[in-house]
Amino acid sequence: MSRVYRPQHVWIDRQVVDSPITANVVRQLAAVPMDVIDGPPPLPAPADQAALMTLAKKHLYLTAQKGRFVRDCPGASSRATDERLCCGYVIVDTVSNCNYDCTYCYLQSYINTPYLTVYANIDRLFEEVTAFLRARPHQLVRMGSGEFSDSLSLDPLTGFSGLLVPFIRQFPNVLFELKTKSDLVEGLLDVEPRGRVMVSWSINPQSVVQREEHKTAPLAARLRAAQRCLEAGYKIGLHFDPLLHFPGWEDVYEPFVKQVFQAVDPRAVTTMSMGSLRFAPDLKDVVQARFPKSRLMTAELFPSDDGKIRYFRPLRAEMYAKMWGWIRRYAPDAPLYLCMETQTLWQQTFGHAPSCSADVEQHIQTGKIPLLVT
Ligand code: SF4
Repeated sequence: MSRVYRPQHVWIDRQVVDSPITANVVRQLAAVPMDVIDGPPPLPAPADQAALMTLAKKHLYLTAQKGRFVRDCPGASSRATDERLCCGYVIVDTVSNCNYDCTYCYLQSYINTPYLTVYANIDRLFEEVTAFLRARPHQLVRMGSGEFSDSLSLDPLTGFSGLLVPFIRQFPNVLFELKTKSDLVEGLLDVEPRGRVMVSWSINPQSVVQREEHKTAPLAARLRAAQRCLEAGYKIGLHFDPLLHFPGWEDVYEPFVKQVFQAVDPRAVTTMSMGSLRFAPDLKDVVQARFPKSRLMTAELFPSDDGKIRYFRPLRAEMYAKMWGWIRRYAPDAPLYLCMETQTLWQQTFGHAPSCSADVEQHIQTGKIPLLVT
C-alpha cells in the first residue's frame, strides 16, 4: 500500500474547526504539530519556485474554499480549442497541491502557496454541487476532483470519499471521477456508489513510476486497487497519461499494456484515455532544479499552439498509434479518447476525428454511462 502522508505541520483555519474533514485529520494526525490560526499559515514564501514547492509538500492547511468549488476544466477555455479537442469535464476543486511528487507535475509551476490546501467546508461544496446538477437534469455531467491534486492520496486522513459517495449517489445525472495514482481505496469499499462514482488510475510502466512518479503506489498496487473497486461496485477508468518518450520506449510500453489487461478486464473499464507529456514553459526550470537526475526535460520538446510544450507532433502520432495498436489487441472496443489533442491526431490515431468538443463528450459517453439510472 502507498504510504499515508504525514506533514511536518498541520495548520487549521478557525473557520473550519467544526468540519468533519478537520475532525478526521485531527484524529489521524494526532502526533503531528497543529495550530488553529486566523488567516493563512505564517510561513515564508520563497521567491524561488522550486524551493517553494519543496516547502509546500511539508505543510497541510485546512481552510474554507472562498471561491467556487465547481468550474469548467481549463481545457475548455484554453486557446485553440477548435482544433484541440476538450472532453467537457467539470472540475471540483477540493484540494490544491499534492503530497506525491511526480517529476512532470504541472502543479510545480502553478502553485504559489507554501502549503498543501484542503478545502474543508464540505457543506458549501455539497450545496454548490447540488445546485449545479439540479440545473442540468437532462445532461450527464462528468465531474472530478483530480485536477489540482490526487483525489485519494489524502483520503485516509480526510475521510473525504466516505462523505462524498453517499452524497453523490443521490443524483442520477452525474459520474463523479476520483483520479489517483494511489491504492488508498479502503474508504470506498464499504460504500455502495450506485453507478455514480468512477475511480480512475493514471498509469505508466513500473520503471517510469519508479523514475518519475515519486511517492505514488507501484503499478501493480494500482491495478489491484482497481480490481477491488470494481468488485465493490465502482466504475473504473484508466488513463495512459502522460506517455513518456525515451529510447526503447516501445519495449517498455508494449509489455506494460499486456500487464494492465492481464490484471483488469478491459470490458469492465468505463473510460480510457491517452495523453502525452505536456506542460507550461516555466515548468522546465523547476523540474531541472528539483529533479536534476531526471531525463524528462532533455527530450526534444516544442511549444504547441495552446502555449504548452509537447513532443513533436509526428512523434506523438507514432506513440498514440502504437499504443492504440497494443491496447486494441486486448480491448478492440475500448472507450479510448485522447486528452487535449488535436483533430489531426485523433484522425491519425483512430482513422476518424470528432468534429468538435461536444462530439468528444458523446464519444466518451457512448453507451457506457447511462443517464437517469437510479
Ligand atoms: S499525482 Fe498528480 S497531482 Fe500529484 S504530484 Fe503526481 S501529477 Fe501532480
